[in-house]
Amino acid sequence: MTTAFITHPDCLKHDMGAGHPEQPARLTAIEDQLIASGIVNYLQRYDAPLATDEQLARVHPLEYVRAIREAAPSSGTVHLDPDTAMNEYSLNAALRAAGAGAFAVDLVVQKKHSAAFCSVRPPGHHACRARPMGFCIFNNVAVGIRHALDVRGLERVALVDFDVHHGNGSEDILAGDERVLMVSTFQSGLYPFSGEEALAANMRNVGLPAGATGEALRRAFAEVWAPAIDAFEPQAIYISAGFDAHRADDMAGLRWVEEDYAWVTRELAALSARHCEGRIVSCLEGGYHLFHLARSVAAHVRELAGA
Ligand SMILES: [Zn+2]
Repeated sequence: MTTAFITHPDCLKHDMGAGHPEQPARLTAIEDQLIASGIVNYLQRYDAPLATDEQLARVHPLEYVRAIREAAPSSGTVHLDPDTAMNEYSLNAALRAAGAGAFAVDLVVQKKHSAAFCSVRPPGHHACRARPMGFCIFNNVAVGIRHALDVRGLERVALVDFDVHHGNGSEDILAGDERVLMVSTFQSGLYPFSGEEALAANMRNVGLPAGATGEALRRAFAEVWAPAIDAFEPQAIYISAGFDAHRADDMAGLRWVEEDYAWVTRELAALSARHCEGRIVSCLEGGYHLFHLARSVAAHVRELAGA
């Protein structure tokens, strides 16, 4: 079975200005590497649909969705916070990024694919219930997870977030929702300066010190993530796949390498084979060093696809 690769040209048109690290070239670098490495032959490509208000409302108050629609400019750039801006294409890009999360669920629940990767931007894991933040507008993974639970009838979904930044938006939205188990690693003391104390019992947060290598990821996996996921017995595993913990990424100070992303993906694939027939949906979050972002995503997608 091929792996679904979900993206959309609108996600390339969202542009927050020259020099912004969350740039359209991230997605083209990823696609170029998937072609160069031959992994593209194991993928089936889909256009991400626009998320509906009904899908967004499972995560964000409708007033928030309306406020984002109203903020979207017809030309020029509007800042939602110091790091997050919208141009004339950003609204559709954000709707497609969130729509991808839900569409991916449909594909894996209907067994068209066992795994899906959403190569979308803007990313989502800092977007809180009613607040855009840190390059994020809608919380793409939360929209997908609530779609899986509320529409597709799943009872338990695990969310794994290995971005170098704490997924504060996902925690804000999903803390206390006992149908969800969220496990994460992030660099302590870094933006958004949260996560050290979990907000609820369904959160397993592992803060890592600056300089930590992939060994720290392996320890967090063995000691915290895997036992929690095994006990939870998820019916699907969702991944907030950020690649900014790479040693070359100057957004933060962890020292992971491509093989660490391959390793963690293999381990998560094994857990998903054990608990949920291999159902995995992975959504791109951070990762700003274009060369190593592309190679890290390729290592991740290669394992998802069993290529
Ligand atoms: Zn990040």
